[in-house]
Amino acid sequence: MVFAAALVALALVLAWPVPRVLARMTTFRRAPRAALVIWQSVTIAAVLSALAATPAVLLEIGEEAMEGPGSARALATVGAVLSGLMLAHVLVSGHQIGTRLRATRRRHRDLVDLLSNAPEVRNELSDPQLCVLQHSTPTAYCVPGLRSRVVLSQGTIDALSAEEVEAVLAHERAHLRERHDLILEFFTVIYTALPPILRSPEALSEVRLLAEVLADRSAVKAVGPVVVARAVVTMAGSSAPDAAMGVGCSTARIRLDLLQEAKRPHILLSLLMFGSATLALGAPICLVVAGWTTT
Ligand SMILES: [Zn+2]
Repeated sequence: MVFAAALVALALVLAWPVPRVLARMTTFRRAPRAALVIWQSVTIAAVLSALAATPAVLLEIGEEAMEGPGSARALATVGAVLSGLMLAHVLVSGHQIGTRLRATRRRHRDLVDLLSNAPEVRNELSDPQLCVLQHSTPTAYCVPGLRSRVVLSQGTIDALSAEEVEAVLAHERAHLRERHDLILEFFTVIYTALPPILRSPEALSEVRLLAEVLADRSAVKAVGPVVVARAVVTMAGSSAPDAAMGVGCSTARIRLDLLQEAKRPHILLSLLMFGSATLALGAPICLVVAGWTTT
């Protein structure tokens, strides 16, 4: 019963307390790429543990309570079917969320293509993906996908200097280039597929923040931290439509603090975090292999 119980415990620990503790480890935000790797490995490890735990527990119960290995194997098969259903639930949830997101983005992209009528601005900024909306409210966001768009309002161009506009563009291009939308989609799928009691909204908001910090770092490489800070402050109150990724958000204060860290490598912290990520992912795999070889 040891391996089955360990898998159940691991699944529960990784699904509930670990995300809450990780969200409080604000030091991790200094190495956002490694932090995102930890979040992904903890989430994948939680799912793997849950999928492996069900057949393992039923196999153990079968071996203890029933006579003959055939009955135990039958119970383990039931467990495997249950795990298959759980996996199917996650995949269906992923398909539904992905389809909905892509349809919303496609509609929004068609709309901004229709509304943005400033080819001279496009040429000036030499970005064929750029759409400029003739609106005085400052807003900036990207619409990810195969035909991605970076959308700025005329209000943004008026409110920012040329360098600050470059910072905003570098930030949005980083979201598109590094496909932060896919990382956020993965966490949204897992969040939605989990039973409400195991959902961790802290995880979702932390991963969103880390994607913003990574995009800010690309902007710092392009124009330096002072210009990025000015752009973040100016855009702090702006909003973006659903399914897009906006530059202004409620985490502006945290992002400003982290701009100071953008050029420090934090090698030791990153190594520690990559090590923890490997441990988290390795734990359920080792338990399954150990349980398999000892039965
Ligand atoms: Zn952003």
